[in-house]
Amino acid sequence: MEVNIKMMNLSKSQYIRGLQCHRSLWLYKNRLELRDKSNIQTDSLFKTGYQVGELAKQLFAGGVEIAFDSDDFGGMIAKTKSLITNGTEVIYEATFSENGIFVMVDILVKNGDKWDIFEVKGTTKIQNKNKLIKKKYLNDIAIQWYVLSCCLKLNRAYIVHIDNTYVRQGELSLESLFKKVDVTDAVLQQQEIIPNQLKSMQTMLISDEPNISIGKHCFDPYECDFMTYCWQHIPKENSVFDISYANGKQWRLLDMGIYSIDDIPDSFHLGANASLQIAYHKSQEVKIDKTKIKMFLDTIKYPINFFDFETFQEVVPRFNNQRPYKHIPFQYSLHILYEDGTFEHKEFLGDENKDPRESLIVNMLNDITSEGSIVAYNQSFEIKQIKNLANFMPSRDKELLDLIERFVDLAYPFQKKYYYHPKFKGKYSIKVVLPTLFPNDPELDYKKLGTVQNGGDAMEIFAKLHLLKDQTKREEIRDELLAYCHLDTLAMVRIWEKLHTMIED
Ligand code: SF4
Repeated sequence: MEVNIKMMNLSKSQYIRGLQCHRSLWLYKNRLELRDKSNIQTDSLFKTGYQVGELAKQLFAGGVEIAFDSDDFGGMIAKTKSLITNGTEVIYEATFSENGIFVMVDILVKNGDKWDIFEVKGTTKIQNKNKLIKKKYLNDIAIQWYVLSCCLKLNRAYIVHIDNTYVRQGELSLESLFKKVDVTDAVLQQQEIIPNQLKSMQTMLISDEPNISIGKHCFDPYECDFMTYCWQHIPKENSVFDISYANGKQWRLLDMGIYSIDDIPDSFHLGANASLQIAYHKSQEVKIDKTKIKMFLDTIKYPINFFDFETFQEVVPRFNNQRPYKHIPFQYSLHILYEDGTFEHKEFLGDENKDPRESLIVNMLNDITSEGSIVAYNQSFEIKQIKNLANFMPSRDKELLDLIERFVDLAYPFQKKYYYHPKFKGKYSIKVVLPTLFPNDPELDYKKLGTVQNGGDAMEIFAKLHLLKDQTKREEIRDELLAYCHLDTLAMVRIWEKLHTMIED
């Protein structure tokens, strides 16, 4: 079908934004000042993408790069044209524009008298559960094909992404780290609908702000960065979006004009967990089942090892026996409580320049007492890491695997609602339970820590620590990592003590 598209100046990312929500594109073009600052992609994510992109270029060595210049897109396009005319066979960030649609191709490779397009993604999975290419990836490469087909003969389109089955042994193998998936057929199918999509964006952009309500599209495929503006009618506290395990029913409530938990009619059917959350919210009662809490506490044996791992992950493995995105434990904290009431604290923090696993195993097996319980919060994570460590070091695997049966999960009494507080809002993570049980306790306040205030911070900072040149800053960060992990196990100790106090009252 012929669709007349006039010049409208749209980059690839703006087109993707428009596909997600016309209102988002309209706001981006007309009211950029309303954009949420906090949701703008973080520097670290950008760096990850950059590293992957740079490595993928080495799969097609010897190419010429078009340097990005936000003040001179015309120059980038002209340079691309000139490279093509001069017979360059591999171009990185090749830049094109057609009818004002502007795209940059990660890698463009000459193949006979045609060209192949390669789009690089740092993800490990590009297909959905029906084995179709996920829309967000397909749309991205399909618009490139649409623009390029106006001036080049195209051969195939590929998505190059990370293969997380790759296990590094020796030199990094780029051919094994990356998978190239031919998505040409899906891209060609998509070409039929692109003109109409562009036409409707063009019509929308010359009109008033579209009247589009909030909905699931605000998160799919990306969390929108205009939520502060569009979601201002949703209460900040106790909205229907604070219901845990709502199974999507919050959208039905929204359709009914119900925004607050307080306004949900008793006749509205939610699941058992969500109903309980709402009932406790409305009554503001605190539930304490002393019998069950006591039964749980009786399963914990002295000496009690309160234990917590921190892990990091990397897209590009640095060490042997490391896979992309695989969690690698690099740190632990251990508070040991003996039956006579004495405490001991032990900890380990790996060297950021080396694979930390071997030293961690040796220290951990030495530090954890040979008897007694090992208490973790959400034990499945710690147990999974221990199984991975056993695979990593077969010479110590029995000792490691023997630890597993000694684990007790401190989250259990909260998960099972032996103790429930309306402030939990249906959740039971330590970050929710701790401030509720110990409000305004400076000893247990994660916000008083430095740059490492949660597991995500620890993961990200340790992975990059080896790149930091400033030794003094490195030592400061290592101290902050130790302080964070120490607080995690101290928090468990205090929660365990609090549970004892509850059954004594
Ligand atoms: S917050 Fe939702 S409705 Fe508003 S622009 Fe974003 S996606 Fe559209």
